[in-house]
Amino acid sequence: MAEQPTFPDTGRSAEDLLAAIRARRGDDADWRGGRTFSLVYNPADPDLEALQEAVALEYLHENYLNPFAFPSLLQMEQEVVDAAIALFGAPGAAGKLTGGGTESIFLAVQVARDRARQAGVEAPQLVTPVTAHPAFAKAAHYLGVDHVAVPVGADGRVDPAAVEAALSDRTALVVGSAPCYPYGVVDPIEELAALAAERGVLCHVDACLGGWLLPFWAELGEPVPPWTMAVPGVTSISADVHKYGWCFKGASVLLHRSKDLLRHQYFLYDAWPGGLYGSATTAGTRPAAPIAAAWATIHHLGRAGYLRLAAAVREATRRFRSGIEAIDGLQITGDPVMSVMEISSPVHDLAAVGDVMDDRGWKLDRQQGGLHLMLSPGHVAVADEFLADLADAVAEHGPSRGVAARYGGVGDEEEAG
Ligand SMILES: *Cc1c(COP(=O)(O)O)cnc(C)c1O
Repeated sequence: MAEQPTFPDTGRSAEDLLAAIRARRGDDADWRGGRTFSLVYNPADPDLEALQEAVALEYLHENYLNPFAFPSLLQMEQEVVDAAIALFGAPGAAGKLTGGGTESIFLAVQVARDRARQAGVEAPQLVTPVTAHPAFAKAAHYLGVDHVAVPVGADGRVDPAAVEAALSDRTALVVGSAPCYPYGVVDPIEELAALAAERGVLCHVDACLGGWLLPFWAELGEPVPPWTMAVPGVTSISADVHKYGWCFKGASVLLHRSKDLLRHQYFLYDAWPGGLYGSATTAGTRPAAPIAAAWATIHHLGRAGYLRLAAAVREATRRFRSGIEAIDGLQITGDPVMSVMEISSPVHDLAAVGDVMDDRGWKLDRQQGGLHLMLSPGHVAVADEFLADLADAVAEHGPSRGVAARYGGVGDEEEAG
Protein backbone atom coordinates (compact mmCIF):
# COMPACT_ATOMS: atom_id res chain seq x y z
CA MET A 1 0.00 0.00 0.00
CA ALA A 2 1.32 3.40 -0.95
CA GLU A 3 2.29 5.63 1.93
CA GLN A 4 0.50 8.95 2.31
CA PRO A 5 2.78 11.88 1.45
CA THR A 6 3.70 13.72 4.63
CA PHE A 7 5.15 17.05 5.65
CA PRO A 8 7.70 16.86 8.48
CA ASP A 9 6.03 17.73 11.82
CA THR A 10 9.16 18.39 13.77
CA GLY A 11 12.56 19.70 12.77
CA ARG A 12 15.62 17.47 12.92
CA SER A 13 19.12 18.45 13.95
CA ALA A 14 21.73 19.34 11.35
CA GLU A 15 23.82 16.39 12.55
CA ASP A 16 20.91 14.00 12.08
CA LEU A 17 20.11 15.31 8.59
CA LEU A 18 23.71 15.16 7.41
CA ALA A 19 23.96 11.59 8.68
CA ALA A 20 20.72 10.74 6.87
CA ILE A 21 22.00 12.27 3.63
CA ARG A 22 25.28 10.38 3.84
CA ALA A 23 23.47 7.14 4.54
CA ARG A 24 21.48 7.59 1.32
CA ARG A 25 24.52 8.16 -0.89
CA GLY A 26 25.73 4.57 -1.13
CA ASP A 27 24.37 4.09 -4.66
CA ASP A 28 25.47 7.50 -5.98
CA ALA A 29 27.99 7.53 -8.84
CA ASP A 30 31.58 7.23 -7.59
CA TRP A 31 33.12 9.97 -9.75
CA ARG A 32 35.94 10.66 -7.31
CA GLY A 33 37.17 7.12 -7.81
CA GLY A 34 37.35 7.62 -11.60
CA ARG A 35 34.54 5.10 -12.09
CA THR A 36 32.24 7.35 -14.11
CA PHE A 37 32.70 8.66 -17.66
CA SER A 38 30.14 11.45 -17.87
CA LEU A 39 28.39 14.03 -15.67
CA VAL A 40 31.31 15.14 -13.46
CA TYR A 41 34.45 16.50 -15.15
CA ASN A 42 36.22 17.79 -12.00
CA PRO A 43 39.94 17.14 -11.70
CA ALA A 44 39.46 16.17 -8.01
CA ASP A 45 42.12 18.75 -7.09
CA PRO A 46 41.85 19.45 -3.32
CA ASP A 47 43.24 23.02 -3.51
CA LEU A 48 40.86 23.97 -6.29
CA GLU A 49 37.91 22.39 -4.48
CA ALA A 50 38.74 24.23 -1.24
CA LEU A 51 38.79 27.53 -3.13
CA GLN A 52 35.53 26.77 -4.94
CA GLU A 53 33.80 25.81 -1.71
CA ALA A 54 34.98 29.00 0.03
CA VAL A 55 33.79 31.11 -2.90
CA ALA A 56 30.43 29.28 -3.00
CA LEU A 57 29.95 30.01 0.69
CA GLU A 58 30.78 33.67 0.10
CA TYR A 59 27.92 33.99 -2.44
CA LEU A 60 25.54 31.22 -1.39
CA HIS A 61 22.69 33.54 -0.44
CA GLU A 62 23.01 36.29 -3.05
CA ASN A 63 20.67 36.65 -6.04
CA TYR A 64 22.03 37.56 -9.47
CA LEU A 65 18.55 38.46 -10.78
CA ASN A 66 19.64 42.09 -10.57
CA PRO A 67 23.31 42.51 -11.55
CA PHE A 68 23.23 46.17 -10.50
CA ALA A 69 22.50 45.16 -6.91
CA PHE A 70 25.70 43.04 -6.94
CA PRO A 71 28.30 44.91 -8.99
CA SER A 72 31.01 42.53 -7.76
CA LEU A 73 29.26 39.70 -9.63
CA LEU A 74 28.71 41.80 -12.75
CA GLN A 75 32.43 42.51 -12.82
CA MET A 76 33.35 38.84 -12.38
CA GLU A 77 30.90 37.81 -15.09
CA GLN A 78 32.47 40.29 -17.51
CA GLU A 79 35.96 39.04 -16.66
CA VAL A 80 34.93 35.42 -17.37
CA VAL A 81 33.47 36.55 -20.71
CA ASP A 82 36.72 38.44 -21.42
CA ALA A 83 38.71 35.27 -20.71
CA ALA A 84 36.50 33.40 -23.18
CA ILE A 85 37.01 36.14 -25.80
CA ALA A 86 40.78 35.86 -25.28
CA LEU A 87 40.66 32.09 -25.87
CA PHE A 88 38.16 31.69 -28.71
CA GLY A 89 36.49 35.04 -29.47
CA ALA A 90 37.22 37.94 -31.78
CA PRO A 91 37.51 41.73 -31.44
CA GLY A 92 34.03 43.16 -30.77
CA ALA A 93 32.63 39.91 -29.35
CA ALA A 94 30.24 40.14 -26.39
CA GLY A 95 28.60 37.59 -24.16
CA LYS A 96 27.05 36.48 -20.90
CA LEU A 97 27.32 33.69 -18.39
CA THR A 98 24.36 31.30 -18.27
CA GLY A 99 23.41 28.45 -15.96
CA GLY A 100 24.65 25.75 -18.35
CA GLY A 101 25.12 24.53 -21.88
CA THR A 102 21.42 24.00 -22.46
CA GLU A 103 20.63 27.60 -21.52
CA SER A 104 23.47 28.91 -23.74
CA ILE A 105 22.08 26.87 -26.64
CA PHE A 106 18.49 28.03 -25.99
CA LEU A 107 19.62 31.64 -26.11
CA ALA A 108 21.66 31.13 -29.29
CA VAL A 109 18.59 29.59 -30.98
CA GLN A 110 16.35 32.36 -29.65
CA VAL A 111 18.67 35.10 -30.97
CA ALA A 112 18.75 33.44 -34.41
CA ARG A 113 14.97 32.95 -34.42
CA ASP A 114 14.23 36.57 -33.51
CA ARG A 115 16.75 37.89 -36.02
CA ALA A 116 15.19 35.74 -38.76
CA ARG A 117 11.70 36.89 -37.80
CA GLN A 118 12.84 40.51 -38.03
CA ALA A 119 14.01 39.72 -41.55
CA GLY A 120 10.50 38.46 -42.38
CA VAL A 121 10.97 34.70 -41.96
CA GLU A 122 7.73 33.43 -40.43
CA ALA A 123 8.77 29.87 -39.62
CA PRO A 124 12.50 29.90 -38.85
CA GLN A 125 14.49 26.72 -39.18
CA LEU A 126 17.49 25.28 -37.32
CA VAL A 127 19.94 23.00 -39.15
CA THR A 128 22.23 20.75 -37.07
CA PRO A 129 24.13 17.51 -37.55
CA VAL A 130 22.33 14.52 -35.91
CA THR A 131 25.22 14.43 -33.44
CA ALA A 132 24.43 17.93 -32.09
CA HIS A 133 23.40 17.89 -28.43
CA PRO A 134 19.68 17.24 -27.73
CA ALA A 135 19.53 20.76 -26.22
CA PHE A 136 19.10 22.00 -29.83
CA ALA A 137 16.06 19.75 -30.38
CA LYS A 138 14.73 20.86 -27.00
CA ALA A 139 15.26 24.55 -27.81
CA ALA A 140 13.58 24.12 -31.21
CA HIS A 141 10.64 22.41 -29.49
CA TYR A 142 10.25 25.10 -26.81
CA LEU A 143 10.85 28.05 -29.13
CA GLY A 144 8.67 26.92 -32.05
CA VAL A 145 11.55 26.53 -34.51
CA ASP A 146 11.73 23.71 -37.10
CA HIS A 147 14.69 21.42 -36.51
CA VAL A 148 16.40 19.69 -39.43
CA ALA A 149 18.94 17.05 -38.30
CA VAL A 150 21.48 16.16 -41.00
CA PRO A 151 23.11 12.67 -40.96
CA VAL A 152 26.88 12.42 -40.38
CA GLY A 153 29.49 10.38 -42.28
CA ALA A 154 31.33 7.26 -41.13
CA ASP A 155 33.89 9.50 -39.40
CA GLY A 156 31.10 11.05 -37.29
CA ARG A 157 31.43 14.48 -38.92
CA VAL A 158 28.70 16.16 -40.90
CA ASP A 159 29.18 16.53 -44.66
CA PRO A 160 28.96 20.23 -45.68
CA ALA A 161 27.22 19.22 -48.92
CA ALA A 162 24.47 17.48 -46.93
CA VAL A 163 24.07 20.60 -44.78
CA GLU A 164 23.95 22.78 -47.90
CA ALA A 165 21.18 20.57 -49.30
CA ALA A 166 19.21 21.03 -46.05
CA LEU A 167 19.35 24.85 -46.12
CA SER A 168 16.31 26.84 -47.18
CA ASP A 169 14.93 30.40 -47.22
CA ARG A 170 13.75 29.70 -43.69
CA THR A 171 17.12 28.71 -42.22
CA ALA A 172 17.99 30.94 -39.27
CA LEU A 173 20.89 29.03 -37.73
CA VAL A 174 23.50 26.47 -38.83
CA VAL A 175 25.20 24.48 -36.06
CA GLY A 176 28.47 22.55 -35.75
CA SER A 177 30.00 20.96 -32.64
CA ALA A 178 33.55 21.33 -31.30
CA PRO A 179 33.47 18.49 -30.50
CA CYS A 180 30.17 16.57 -30.52
CA TYR A 181 29.37 14.56 -27.39
CA PRO A 182 28.76 11.10 -28.93
CA TYR A 183 32.09 10.76 -30.84
CA GLY A 184 34.32 13.66 -29.76
CA VAL A 185 34.90 14.72 -33.37
CA VAL A 186 34.79 18.33 -34.59
CA ASP A 187 32.45 19.19 -37.49
CA PRO A 188 33.90 21.07 -40.53
CA ILE A 189 33.31 24.48 -38.98
CA GLU A 190 34.97 26.54 -41.75
CA GLU A 191 32.69 25.05 -44.40
CA LEU A 192 29.54 25.29 -42.26
CA ALA A 193 30.26 28.92 -41.31
CA ALA A 194 30.94 29.80 -44.97
CA LEU A 195 27.59 28.27 -46.02
CA ALA A 196 25.82 30.31 -43.35
CA ALA A 197 27.68 33.53 -44.19
CA GLU A 198 26.88 33.19 -47.93
CA ARG A 199 23.19 33.23 -47.03
CA GLY A 200 23.48 35.90 -44.35
CA VAL A 201 22.37 33.53 -41.58
CA LEU A 202 23.94 32.78 -38.22
CA CYS A 203 26.34 29.95 -37.39
CA HIS A 204 26.67 28.60 -33.86
CA VAL A 205 29.60 26.47 -32.70
CA ASP A 206 28.65 24.27 -29.77
CA ALA A 207 31.88 24.12 -27.80
CA CYS A 208 30.12 23.31 -24.53
CA LEU A 209 32.48 20.35 -24.28
CA GLY A 210 35.64 21.65 -25.95
CA GLY A 211 35.59 25.40 -25.33
CA TRP A 212 37.81 25.43 -22.27
CA LEU A 213 40.02 22.46 -23.27
CA LEU A 214 40.74 22.75 -27.02
CA PRO A 215 42.74 26.01 -26.72
CA PHE A 216 45.14 24.28 -24.30
CA TRP A 217 45.08 21.03 -26.26
CA ALA A 218 46.34 23.01 -29.26
CA GLU A 219 48.95 24.74 -27.09
CA LEU A 220 50.23 21.29 -26.06
CA GLY A 221 50.88 20.67 -29.75
CA GLU A 222 47.89 18.45 -30.53
CA PRO A 223 46.09 18.90 -33.86
CA VAL A 224 42.84 20.85 -33.42
CA PRO A 225 40.73 21.79 -36.46
CA PRO A 226 39.55 25.44 -36.66
CA TRP A 227 36.46 26.14 -34.55
CA THR A 228 36.79 29.61 -32.94
CA MET A 229 35.61 33.08 -33.99
CA ALA A 230 38.84 33.31 -35.96
CA VAL A 231 36.76 31.37 -38.53
CA PRO A 232 34.79 33.89 -40.64
CA GLY A 233 31.04 33.36 -40.34
CA VAL A 234 31.01 31.86 -36.83
CA THR A 235 28.55 34.15 -35.04
CA SER A 236 28.17 32.51 -31.61
CA ILE A 237 29.92 29.95 -29.40
CA SER A 238 28.74 28.14 -26.27
CA ALA A 239 31.38 26.85 -23.83
CA ASP A 240 30.65 25.27 -20.43
CA VAL A 241 32.89 26.39 -17.59
CA HIS A 242 31.32 23.57 -15.57
CA LYS A 243 32.83 20.89 -17.84
CA TYR A 244 36.48 21.14 -18.94
CA GLY A 245 36.61 24.67 -17.47
CA TRP A 246 36.83 22.84 -14.10
CA CYS A 247 34.14 24.84 -12.27
CA PHE A 248 31.27 23.26 -10.33
CA LYS A 249 27.83 23.10 -11.95
CA GLY A 250 25.90 26.12 -13.13
CA ALA A 251 28.29 28.04 -15.39
CA SER A 252 28.47 28.32 -19.17
CA VAL A 253 29.47 31.16 -21.50
CA LEU A 254 27.50 32.24 -24.56
CA LEU A 255 29.59 34.47 -26.78
CA HIS A 256 28.22 36.46 -29.73
CA ARG A 257 30.35 38.00 -32.45
CA SER A 258 28.88 41.45 -31.79
CA LYS A 259 26.99 43.50 -29.22
CA ASP A 260 24.15 43.81 -31.75
CA LEU A 261 23.64 40.06 -31.71
CA LEU A 262 23.86 39.96 -27.92
CA ARG A 263 21.11 42.59 -27.73
CA HIS A 264 18.58 40.11 -29.21
CA GLN A 265 19.16 38.08 -26.05
CA TYR A 266 17.86 40.81 -23.72
CA PHE A 267 14.29 40.73 -22.45
CA LEU A 268 12.77 44.00 -21.23
CA TYR A 269 9.22 44.35 -19.90
CA ASP A 270 7.73 47.65 -18.74
CA ALA A 271 4.00 46.78 -18.45
CA TRP A 272 4.26 45.21 -15.00
CA PRO A 273 2.85 46.97 -11.93
CA GLY A 274 5.92 45.66 -10.13
CA GLY A 275 8.18 47.92 -12.19
CA LEU A 276 10.59 47.54 -15.09
CA TYR A 277 11.80 43.95 -15.47
CA GLY A 278 14.82 43.07 -17.55
CA SER A 279 17.15 40.11 -17.95
CA ALA A 280 19.77 38.76 -20.30
CA THR A 281 19.20 35.05 -19.58
CA THR A 282 16.20 32.77 -18.97
CA ALA A 283 16.31 32.46 -15.18
CA GLY A 284 14.71 34.97 -12.83
CA THR A 285 16.11 34.52 -9.36
CA ARG A 286 19.59 33.27 -10.04
CA PRO A 287 22.37 31.59 -8.03
CA ALA A 288 25.46 33.76 -7.70
CA ALA A 289 27.94 31.12 -6.53
CA PRO A 290 28.66 29.61 -9.99
CA ILE A 291 29.54 33.05 -11.38
CA ALA A 292 32.02 33.81 -8.62
CA ALA A 293 33.39 30.25 -8.78
CA ALA A 294 33.87 30.41 -12.57
CA TRP A 295 35.86 33.60 -12.10
CA ALA A 296 37.89 32.23 -9.19
CA THR A 297 38.62 28.95 -11.00
CA ILE A 298 39.96 30.70 -14.10
CA HIS A 299 42.09 33.11 -12.07
CA HIS A 300 43.35 30.42 -9.69
CA LEU A 301 44.44 27.99 -12.40
CA GLY A 302 45.58 30.50 -15.00
CA ARG A 303 47.13 29.33 -18.25
CA ALA A 304 49.68 27.15 -16.45
CA GLY A 305 46.97 25.36 -14.47
CA TYR A 306 44.79 24.79 -17.54
CA LEU A 307 47.81 23.43 -19.44
CA ARG A 308 48.68 21.08 -16.55
CA LEU A 309 45.13 19.72 -16.43
CA ALA A 310 44.96 19.44 -20.23
CA ALA A 311 48.20 17.42 -20.14
CA ALA A 312 46.67 15.07 -17.56
CA VAL A 313 43.55 14.65 -19.70
CA ARG A 314 45.78 13.94 -22.70
CA GLU A 315 47.66 11.31 -20.72
CA ALA A 316 44.38 9.61 -19.76
CA THR A 317 43.20 9.85 -23.38
CA ARG A 318 46.39 8.26 -24.77
CA ARG A 319 46.30 5.37 -22.31
CA PHE A 320 42.61 4.60 -22.72
CA ARG A 321 42.64 4.95 -26.49
CA SER A 322 45.70 2.82 -27.16
CA GLY A 323 44.57 0.22 -24.60
CA ILE A 324 41.10 -0.06 -26.12
CA GLU A 325 42.44 -0.27 -29.68
CA ALA A 326 44.73 -3.11 -28.55
CA ILE A 327 41.75 -5.26 -27.48
CA ASP A 328 40.71 -7.57 -30.30
CA GLY A 329 37.42 -6.52 -31.89
CA LEU A 330 37.20 -3.12 -30.19
CA GLN A 331 37.67 0.19 -31.96
CA ILE A 332 37.16 3.90 -31.46
CA THR A 333 34.55 5.52 -33.71
CA GLY A 334 36.08 8.10 -36.06
CA ASP A 335 39.16 10.05 -34.97
CA PRO A 336 38.26 11.95 -31.78
CA VAL A 337 40.04 15.28 -31.39
CA MET A 338 40.24 15.23 -27.59
CA SER A 339 39.14 13.18 -24.61
CA VAL A 340 35.58 12.16 -25.49
CA MET A 341 34.94 9.09 -27.63
CA GLU A 342 32.83 6.06 -28.44
CA ILE A 343 34.03 2.46 -28.06
CA SER A 344 32.45 0.49 -30.89
CA SER A 345 32.78 -3.05 -32.23
CA PRO A 346 31.71 -4.92 -35.35
CA VAL A 347 31.82 -8.23 -33.46
CA HIS A 348 31.17 -7.81 -29.75
CA ASP A 349 27.85 -7.10 -28.08
CA LEU A 350 28.91 -3.96 -26.24
CA ALA A 351 25.71 -3.70 -24.21
CA ALA A 352 26.63 -7.05 -22.64
CA VAL A 353 30.24 -5.90 -22.18
CA GLY A 354 28.85 -2.78 -20.50
CA ASP A 355 26.84 -4.99 -18.11
CA VAL A 356 29.99 -6.85 -17.06
CA MET A 357 31.75 -3.50 -16.57
CA ASP A 358 28.79 -2.33 -14.46
CA ASP A 359 29.25 -5.37 -12.20
CA ARG A 360 32.88 -4.31 -11.75
CA GLY A 361 31.84 -0.78 -10.82
CA TRP A 362 32.57 1.05 -14.10
CA LYS A 363 29.66 3.21 -15.24
CA LEU A 364 29.78 3.47 -19.04
CA ASP A 365 26.89 5.18 -20.83
CA ARG A 366 25.30 3.20 -23.66
CA GLN A 367 25.04 4.90 -27.06
CA GLN A 368 23.39 3.73 -30.28
CA GLY A 369 26.77 2.52 -31.58
CA GLY A 370 28.62 1.47 -28.45
CA LEU A 371 29.89 2.74 -25.11
CA HIS A 372 30.75 6.36 -24.33
CA LEU A 373 33.89 7.69 -22.62
CA MET A 374 34.63 11.14 -21.20
CA LEU A 375 38.09 11.30 -19.65
CA SER A 376 39.22 13.54 -16.79
CA PRO A 377 42.58 13.89 -15.00
CA GLY A 378 41.35 11.38 -12.39
CA HIS A 379 41.21 8.64 -15.01
CA VAL A 380 45.00 8.44 -15.41
CA ALA A 381 45.32 6.51 -12.16
CA VAL A 382 42.66 3.92 -13.07
CA ALA A 383 43.56 3.35 -16.74
CA ASP A 384 45.35 0.01 -16.25
CA GLU A 385 42.62 -1.39 -14.01
CA PHE A 386 39.92 -0.26 -16.44
CA LEU A 387 41.66 -1.77 -19.45
CA ALA A 388 42.24 -5.11 -17.67
CA ASP A 389 38.56 -5.25 -16.71
CA LEU A 390 37.49 -4.30 -20.23
CA ALA A 391 39.66 -7.06 -21.75
CA ASP A 392 38.14 -9.53 -19.26
CA ALA A 393 34.61 -8.32 -19.99
CA VAL A 394 35.15 -8.77 -23.73
CA ALA A 395 36.69 -12.24 -23.25
CA GLU A 396 34.07 -13.29 -20.70
CA HIS A 397 31.22 -12.36 -22.91
CA GLY A 398 32.75 -13.33 -26.21
CA PRO A 399 31.45 -12.14 -29.55
CA SER A 400 27.68 -12.11 -29.68
CA ARG A 401 26.40 -14.79 -32.07
CA GLY A 402 23.70 -12.47 -33.35
CA VAL A 403 26.10 -9.64 -34.03
CA ALA A 404 28.82 -11.96 -35.37
CA ALA A 405 26.32 -13.54 -37.76
CA ARG A 406 25.45 -10.15 -39.18
CA TYR A 407 29.12 -9.56 -39.86
CA GLY A 408 29.54 -12.90 -41.67
CA GLY A 409 30.31 -14.93 -38.57
CA VAL A 410 33.53 -13.08 -37.78
CA GLY A 411 34.75 -14.09 -34.37
CA ASP A 412 32.61 -17.28 -33.98
CA GLU A 413 35.70 -19.46 -33.83
CA GLU A 414 37.32 -17.33 -31.14
CA GLU A 415 34.36 -17.35 -28.76
CA ALA A 416 35.60 -17.63 -25.19
CA GLY A 417 34.46 -20.65 -23.16
C1 LIG B 1 26.94 19.04 -22.01
C2 LIG B 1 26.72 19.50 -23.41
C3 LIG B 1 25.68 20.37 -23.71
C4 LIG B 1 24.61 20.77 -22.72
O1 LIG B 1 25.12 21.36 -21.60
P1 LIG B 1 24.42 21.25 -20.17
O2 LIG B 1 25.38 21.99 -19.32
O3 LIG B 1 24.31 19.78 -19.83
O4 LIG B 1 23.09 21.88 -20.24
C5 LIG B 1 25.60 20.85 -25.01
N1 LIG B 1 26.48 20.44 -25.94
C6 LIG B 1 27.48 19.58 -25.69
C7 LIG B 1 28.42 19.19 -26.78
C8 LIG B 1 27.62 19.07 -24.42
O5 LIG B 1 28.60 18.19 -24.14
